[in-house]
Formats: sequence, C-alpha cells, structure tokens
Amino acid sequence: MNLMPVYKWLKNNHSFHCLLCLSRGKHGSAGICEGCLADLPWYASRCRQCALPMPIADSRCGRCQRDSPAFAQVVTPFLYRFPVDSLVLAFKYHHQLTYGKLLGLMLLDAVRFHYQEHHQTLPDCLVPMPLHRSRQAKRGYNQALELARPLLKPLAIPLELNNLIRERATQAQQGLDAQARRQNLQGAFRCRFPERIRNRHVALVDDVMTTGTTADEASRTLLDAGAASVSIWCVARTP
Ligand SMILES: [Zn+2]
Ligand SMILES: [Zn+2]
Repeated sequence: MNLMPVYKWLKNNHSFHCLLCLSRGKHGSAGICEGCLADLPWYASRCRQCALPMPIADSRCGRCQRDSPAFAQVVTPFLYRFPVDSLVLAFKYHHQLTYGKLLGLMLLDAVRFHYQEHHQTLPDCLVPMPLHRSRQAKRGYNQALELARPLLKPLAIPLELNNLIRERATQAQQGLDAQARRQNLQGAFRCRFPERIRNRHVALVDDVMTTGTTADEASRTLLDAGAASVSIWCVARTP
C-alpha cells in the first residue's frame, strides 16, 4: 500500500485526499470520502453480546445463550471484510502504524455512537489486549495499544497498561476446534495488579475478534481479578 496519502492526510488535517480512493475534497474526521465510507463493511444487526451477525437485532445468538462469554458486549464498527481486512493486515504485519490511527479513529466513532445509543456509561479504563513479550519484541509494537491511543484523550479514559499480561506464548488459534482453542489459552493471561481494576468497568481493546475465545479468556482473567465488567472494543469482527 502507498503510504503517501496517509501522510498527506495527517499533514493536511484530514482535508484533501481520501485515504482509500485518493479523490480530492473535504473529508470527515477519518480522512475517507463519503462514497468510500458508505462502501465500508459496516455492521448491521448482531448478537448483543458477542456481535455475531444475526438477522434480528438486539437479541443473543444461540451460542451466547448456551454458554455465555465472560465479556458483557462487543463494540465494533466493521465486519472483517475488504477493505478493512487489508488495512488491518497492513497495520498489523507491515508496520503501517498510520493505518492504526485511522482504524482507531473509526473505532472511536463506533464507541461514541454505541454508548450514546444504548445510554451506557463509558468504562473506567482501557486495557489493550496484550501480546506475549516474544511476539511483541518481534513485531516492535502491540497493535491493540496503537488502536487504543487515539481513544484516550477524546474519551478521557485512562489507559491501564502492563497490568493484563500474556504469560504464555500460545500456538495460533486457527485450525483448532472450540475445545482445543480454550485449552490452548488456559492460563495464558495474568493480571499483575488486581487492585487497580477492582470494581472497575474495563474496555478491552483488540484489533479483530474471530471466535471470541481469546477475548473470553482475557475477560475471565480480568473478572477473576475483580473487574466489575468487561466490554470488548475491536475494529472488526469476522462474520
Ligand atoms: Zn474515497
Ligand atoms: Zn452471541
């Protein structure tokens, strides 16, 4: 991907080139023109707990009813489809941190809309989904932390950093069935300073949610440590 438009957008305070189609004109806060914005894979109706796409809005999917996840809800603007998937991959695996800022701003809009729409109070702190230190050293950054950064000031929510940690480097979740995914993640997370999150409502920020097993396990760790509730905030969810 060509990074020039991103830099131009940052330099020109979001006003000239659309980040996706490069058309000129005045664009919204995320630097994307109206046409491209309309074409993004926006979420429609979903499970109100795990955000699985559903034909009926505001109900819970069968899986959440049978086996409720530890997190209370998932707030996300997008389905994990083109071009959001390309932006996420470029951000995550090719050091294109400016895309992280763009995605973070879109997440910010989704969060504002969700909490207003549902008359909910914002959480007390943001926890980025941790990477195991070996993976973070290899990548050079934690994508979840980069996504959380643009949210902090506008929402005035403090960051709870280096509290939830990933203790074990787990194998990739792809290709494992539900039970194997859980086993793979058991004891993967640890909360180092439980007193800092006790009785607090936590937003756990991640890039993409797939089956939700990782989000579930991390949420469980936070709740076991005393958190009052955990909401997952992510850029996209796989259908
Ligand atoms: Zn455009
Ligand atoms: Zn569900």
